[in-house]
Amino acid sequence: MSDQQQGIFGIDLGTTYSVVAYIDETGRPAVTRNSDGDDTTPSVVYFETEDNVVVGKAAKASAGVDPDNVVSLIKRQMHNKDYTRFFWEKEHSPSSISALILAELARNAEETTHRTVRQVVITVPAYFGLLEKDATKKAGEIAGLEVIGIVPEPVAAALAYGVTGSADGTTFMVYDLGGGTFDITLIRMTDTSVEVLAVDGDHNLGGADWDERLFEYLKEQTVEQTGFEDIDEDEGALQDLRRMAEETKQALSKAESKTVAHRLAGKPAKIVVTRTQFQEMTADLLEKAVEITRRMLADAEQRFPGIRGQISELLLVGGSSWMPAVAERLRAEFPWEPKVADPDLAVAKGAALYAAGQTVKLVEAEAEAGGGRVGAEASANGNRRGTLPSGPPSEAAIAAVTERTGMDAEQVAGVVRTVVNVLPKAVGIKLLDSDVPGWEKLPDDEMPFYVEHLVPAQTQLPYDAEKFTAGTTVAGQQSIAIEIWEQAGSVPDQALDSNHRVDDAGLIEGLGLFRLPAGSPIDITLKVDAEGTVNLLAVEPTSGKELTMSVKIAIMSDEKVAEYKATVSALTKNR
Ligand code: ADP
Ligand code: MG
Repeated sequence: MSDQQQGIFGIDLGTTYSVVAYIDETGRPAVTRNSDGDDTTPSVVYFETEDNVVVGKAAKASAGVDPDNVVSLIKRQMHNKDYTRFFWEKEHSPSSISALILAELARNAEETTHRTVRQVVITVPAYFGLLEKDATKKAGEIAGLEVIGIVPEPVAAALAYGVTGSADGTTFMVYDLGGGTFDITLIRMTDTSVEVLAVDGDHNLGGADWDERLFEYLKEQTVEQTGFEDIDEDEGALQDLRRMAEETKQALSKAESKTVAHRLAGKPAKIVVTRTQFQEMTADLLEKAVEITRRMLADAEQRFPGIRGQISELLLVGGSSWMPAVAERLRAEFPWEPKVADPDLAVAKGAALYAAGQTVKLVEAEAEAGGGRVGAEASANGNRRGTLPSGPPSEAAIAAVTERTGMDAEQVAGVVRTVVNVLPKAVGIKLLDSDVPGWEKLPDDEMPFYVEHLVPAQTQLPYDAEKFTAGTTVAGQQSIAIEIWEQAGSVPDQALDSNHRVDDAGLIEGLGLFRLPAGSPIDITLKVDAEGTVNLLAVEPTSGKELTMSVKIAIMSDEKVAEYKATVSALTKNR
């Protein structure tokens, strides 16, 4: 492997399907096929035996026979610090399970491209908070990859669609209907930067819901034709029907009708489904997505008056956008002509383009650090620290990447972008609502805690929050615990359940001597830097005691990463 050239790779690590793209010899983004010959790989992991793990189509097919050892939809757990599962007595986390998917994708990509997969860009949904982005980056590290960028999926999609931005900014919408989620994003792109203006969606709306409708229909028809009433007890038959439902749905994107022929309990069933029928049984699902799109537009219009009139494009991505009804419905509703091209591959292709842009920055950072000349090999082995340059790229750095990728200089310059970091989720501190009568007597788990968001969602970074004054809760309080929390759901909400703690509590201790009355002020200032590090300063004015907390919202210690890395590499070696 060592004499192989390092490629430029982008990975769309999807909830249901993942895709890898690279910059091919002609300088264009191309998708790498997996060992099944498919462009997309189901994001499903099957822990088959103690030392064998299966990823992709075969794993998906095993879900029916050995469900306890199959994991799907792991991306939905990316935020969940408490999610651990044991397979064959080894502990796994969302990051380590995702790492198994990434390792398989990387291995397949090396085989088909004959290039080393080392530096990669991984895409994440635009609504992912810092915690989830970090978990994704850790997944890459556990898989033995160097993650040179995490880019929002709609931004990657826009790069693949060739949205070029303009001096004063091009505004467009990305409609992403995938396998299990729907995301709608409003983006502004300039010559040098990309900014996510608004995000909305439904994390339980996607192709699987269309499959489910068709599955129910196929099941009902099968029972009717075969007279086999006990179908619900036959896991194998149900699993077959689910597979057929998804296949039928996909076929109906091209054909006007599809016949499903199969046998059950020795009797044949033959079911004809037309596209019109299918569209009728799923029309309400499409309507949901339209409603959410309207809601996002209304919200954006409120925050940026006049923005709707500036939208120039509507880009469709996600595998479910192959269904002709999607574009039809949008065309009927909105003034923009929906663009659909390779919707399930666009995100990965854009990630590969973004990776080329990141490579320019890496080459440049290295040249600056070393004070030396920029060379074509510069980015391959170097070790970098700190942040990447955000100014316009130098010609030398562009030339280095041009040479390495076969892209032309203009193309390379066109994909160097700084994604303006917005804090997608609100961040705040945990407080106790002492106005709730009798709270002192409540058991611990019923205490009226809530999260006061000091930094609202969708804030551009860096950000300094206004000073916030909290109060002590009881007279003579000995110590004050401060915890930083991040919004967990898609809408900010003060309830503890709708947020997650991002770090262990910090303590201001030794306050007993000062006999502070209840409600004594504690001044809190919170800042978030451009990289997403949250810095908190809390001061108790009477004692002058201070607490500073600095958390890079991260979910896993380096030791833990190393531990998972060992487990994952034991499972993926020599496969
Ligand atoms: P993810 O949501 O994981 O990012 P994708 O964007 O690849 O995944 O979308 C996967 C969904 O797209 C699945 O539900 C799949 O059945 C659906 N899909 C893929 N191809 C087609 C097609 N030709 N017609 C209809 N649906 C499709
Ligand atoms: Mg996707």
